[in-house]
Amino acid sequence: MLTIKSISLRYKFAGLTALLLLVTVVALTELANHQMQTHFDRYLVTMGRCVMMGGGGGRPGMSYGASEADFLGSVHDGLYAMGGGLVALAVAAAWFFTGRLTCSLKRLAVAAREMAAGRPAFPLAVDSGDEVGRLTATFNEMAEKIERNNADRRLLLANIAHELKTPLTVIQGNVEGMLDNVVERSDENLLLLKDEVHQLSRLVSDLRDIALAENRQLSLDRRPVPVSDIVLRAVADFRPLAEEKRVRLDCNVRNPVVAEVDSGRLLQVVHNLLANALRHVRPRIGAVELTVGLADQDPDCFEIAISDNGGGIPAAHRSRIFDCFFRADGARSRNDGGTGLGLAIARQLCRAHGGDCWLAGSSGEGSKFVIRLPVRAATSDGVKREG
Ligand code: ADP
Repeated sequence: MLTIKSISLRYKFAGLTALLLLVTVVALTELANHQMQTHFDRYLVTMGRCVMMGGGGGRPGMSYGASEADFLGSVHDGLYAMGGGLVALAVAAAWFFTGRLTCSLKRLAVAAREMAAGRPAFPLAVDSGDEVGRLTATFNEMAEKIERNNADRRLLLANIAHELKTPLTVIQGNVEGMLDNVVERSDENLLLLKDEVHQLSRLVSDLRDIALAENRQLSLDRRPVPVSDIVLRAVADFRPLAEEKRVRLDCNVRNPVVAEVDSGRLLQVVHNLLANALRHVRPRIGAVELTVGLADQDPDCFEIAISDNGGGIPAAHRSRIFDCFFRADGARSRNDGGTGLGLAIARQLCRAHGGDCWLAGSSGEGSKFVIRLPVRAATSDGVKREG
């Protein structure tokens, strides 16, 4: 059914413009006519060129000669013709400009429909700097972002499939070999299978954590805990590995901080960063240092910095190390047990706490990662709770 809402913007704008102009022009023309006639009458009376209450043309009570009546008639006609011309011109202009506007909006609607149908939206030409131009530019930005997200999602799915396939192939091959009696059912082989199953379940739980954190559905058990206890616990966990590699592992607590954090999750973050640092330092000459304390620039936050003197991260890789499955040296990290998810999880867990984790510096002489979290948990309305 045809309703006002369903009529094209072009008809609405042009119609409204025509109506408004018609009313304005008619009113102005009538006013001009009236004024002109009044002054003309006064002029004629002053000049003694008309007769009051006489016959012939003119207003009631006024009688004009033929030339005066002609003059008045032509002025009136001229005013009406000009008014009509103005209305026609304005309607044509409104029709033209609203045509351009609706054409741009139609183009946007078609592009949005194409995108919804899964066909990549090409960048639309931005041919003006007005609101429609800005809307088109914003649409282009949005389309590009959606495309990038879709590409990331496809890549992530391909990576997940690839990462799952490797341990599954090993497990499948070994189990089939054991059933066919071509692989020995020894403790050694069973331990190998157990490692692969462990790797698989770690991968799946890491992916689950990332997905939950990204969707803000990760539940954190936040309680006030001394942050140094968590860091010292992580150091103690990695001490045997550091000793095995004969690497120095130091912890420097600048000031004691009690913060409302999920201690298990924070320990996981420190573990991930510490594991990376120890993986990348050279045996015997390597050194890893952790520093804990309130953030210099923001006393409402605390920081944990983890520095190593390993080979550092190549500049070209620095912007991607927090991406899922990114490994600067793929084969080596995989063999070392790295899933390529360690930094991605660390960052998501920090963000779930309302903080962040980033690479503060890296060169050929080592890397420094920083974790910064708020000391107090924000309430659901974003306000920090009083202690
Ligand atoms: P992985 O499981 O491979 O360690 P991460 O997400 O923890 O995955 O790290 C991503 C990549 O970042 C690593 O493969 C490594 O190339 C690089 N990286 C992380 N930490 C360090 C570090 N301390 N020194 C050098 N490279 C690092």
